[in-house]
Amino acid sequence: MKLHDISVVVPVYNEEKGIPELFDRLRTTVEKVSRDAEFIFVNDASTDGSLSIIRQLAETDKRVRFISFSRNFGHQVAVTAGLEHSRGKAVVIIDGDLQDPPELIPELYATYQKGFKVVYAKRRSRAGESWFKKSTARVFYRLLKRLTHVHIPIDTGDFRLIDRQIVEQLSLMPEPNKFLRGQIAWMGFRQTFVEFDRDARKYGTTGYPIKKMLRFAFDGITAFSDVPLKFATAAGFLVSAMALLVIVYALFSHFVLNHTITGWTSLIVSSMFIGGIQLFAIGIIGEYIGRINQTVRKRPLYIVEEQNTGQETNDEGTGAGSAGNESNPYD
Ligand code: UDP
Ligand code: MG
Repeated sequence: MKLHDISVVVPVYNEEKGIPELFDRLRTTVEKVSRDAEFIFVNDASTDGSLSIIRQLAETDKRVRFISFSRNFGHQVAVTAGLEHSRGKAVVIIDGDLQDPPELIPELYATYQKGFKVVYAKRRSRAGESWFKKSTARVFYRLLKRLTHVHIPIDTGDFRLIDRQIVEQLSLMPEPNKFLRGQIAWMGFRQTFVEFDRDARKYGTTGYPIKKMLRFAFDGITAFSDVPLKFATAAGFLVSAMALLVIVYALFSHFVLNHTITGWTSLIVSSMFIGGIQLFAIGIIGEYIGRINQTVRKRPLYIVEEQNTGQETNDEGTGAGSAGNESNPYD
C-alpha cells in the first residue's frame, strides 16, 4: 500500500455551516506541508446537510474521502473509524467545528519531523467555552491525574498529529469505550506538544451535551484506573471505625452517665448513611461491569452506510463492542 505524506481525519456531526471554510483552510495549510495529502471526513450520522456537502467536496477534490455512519456512534468512534481508513505516514486529528485552527498543522508537522511520534496541541486558552465546561474539564483532568499512573496531558483534546505507528497500535486496542487521548498517552514513545489558543465554535452547537460528557469522563476513568473500585473497601473501613466509636460512646453513656441513647433519628440517619454508601459502591461497580458487558459482546464498533474510500459498503468497524449504542441500558 502506498502511503500518503499526511492524512487529516475530521469527525463531523452537524457541521454543515463550517465544513466549506474548514476545508478551504485545511487545504491551504496542508499544502504547505505536502501536496500528497488525503482528507478523511467521518460523518457521524449528522441530521443536517453535512453529508451532501462532504459528497460535493469529494467530487471536486479527489483527495477527499469520506465515511458515513448508519447512526450516531459518537466522536471517539468517528475518529477511530477515520484512523482505521487513513493511509498517511502522519495523521492529523482535528475537530470539524473550527475550534482547532488548521493553521497549526505546519507547526505540528515540523515538530513531528524532529522525531516525535505524537505531537498534541495544548490549549493555552479556550475562547467561547462556558464557565461550566471549563471548570468541569479542569476538575476532571486533575482527578484523572490522581487516579491513574498514565500521564494523560492536561488541557488537551484530540487535536494532534500522530505517526503511522501510533495509528497501528491503536488498531490493536479493541476496547469499545474509547478514550483516545489516554490510549495514546499510555503507549509511550516520544511525545510532545505545541501550544495554541482555542477558538470558540464558529457555527452550530456542541455535539457534547452533558450526558455524553459524563459518559466520556467515566470511559476515561474506568479505562485508566481501578482506584474507584477500592472505594467500597475504604468506605467500609471508615464506617466500621465510626461505628466502633459510636458503640463505645453508647455503652459509656448507658453505664457511666446513666443515660441510654434512644431514638428514631439516630437509627434512620445511620441506616440511610450506610444505604447511601452501599448504593454508591454498587453504582461504581456497575460502571465497570457495564463496560465489561459491552466488551464481551464484541459487536462492531460502528457501521458504515456510505463511503468513497474504495472499500466495500456496509463495512464494519474492526473494533469489538458497541460504544455509544443508544439502545444500551448501561450507557
Ligand atoms: N462529533 C461527532 N460525533 C458526536 C459529537 C461530536 O463526530 O456525537 C464531532 C463534532 O462534529 C466535532 C468534534 O466531534 O467535530 C467535537 O465535538 P464538539 O465540538 O461538539 O465538542 P466540544 O468541542 O463542544 O467539546
Ligand atoms: Mg467543539
